[in-house]
Amino acid sequence: MRRTIVAGNWKMNTTPAQGVELLEGVAAIKGEAKASVELIVGVPFTHICAVGKAAQGTGIAIAAQNCADHAKGAYTGEVSAEMLASMGVEYVILGHSERREYYGETSETLNKKIELVYQNGMSPIYCIGEKQQEREANRQNEVCRAQIQEVVFNLTPEQFEKLIIAYEPVWAIGTGLTATDDQAQEIHHYIRQVLAEKFGEQAASKCPILYGGSCKPSNAKGLFEKADVDGGLIGGASLNAQDFVGIAKAF
Ligand code: PEP
Repeated sequence: MRRTIVAGNWKMNTTPAQGVELLEGVAAIKGEAKASVELIVGVPFTHICAVGKAAQGTGIAIAAQNCADHAKGAYTGEVSAEMLASMGVEYVILGHSERREYYGETSETLNKKIELVYQNGMSPIYCIGEKQQEREANRQNEVCRAQIQEVVFNLTPEQFEKLIIAYEPVWAIGTGLTATDDQAQEIHHYIRQVLAEKFGEQAASKCPILYGGSCKPSNAKGLFEKADVDGGLIGGASLNAQDFVGIAKAF
């Protein structure tokens, strides 16, 4: 049995007070979803203290949306993995396409970040996915393979056990376009095969692979019914408690 996970990515939205309200809204109705569905919220750095406090005892875990690629030192404006872990953060979203595209995140920096996340006892939610032109050229498998080989293949088996992958086709993020259920299944299955090449069938069969890209309550069920789709990384719809829990209820 694989873990089932619905993770929110709040991106650069809400004030801390609004974030607390949102968290409380999710906590109030999360009982409508199966208890086996793990809920994670990826909050801005500024919210970790207040939202983390509000999440205590709710079973909702806190993720950060990024971390520094150095352990500490003269890196003005950066936030280290150690700082995040000390605040009770359990997960760090890494390699989101917005960070790859707008902040020049490369496999080289991601390798450093992922290592620091593990060193500090947290787990990465590693995002991969192809751009529209790459999908049009039918290059999605090649792109995802490279993003896995360049980063995930450097992990030890013990580190791999804690990894969560989010497949997020860039053309579906925030666009209202969603991969069809079959498109999602096809590539999730492929990703699992690539993982198996390095870590073996058994370890790969345990890795949660989340789908991300305009996922909402109305399309989550079809996606989550697919054999290799283990949940979602949710952007826009995670900013509304009813929608976020509505997606979790699709399991
Ligand atoms: C995301 O940014 O991770 C995401 C999936 O966004 P959205 O759900 O808004 O497409």
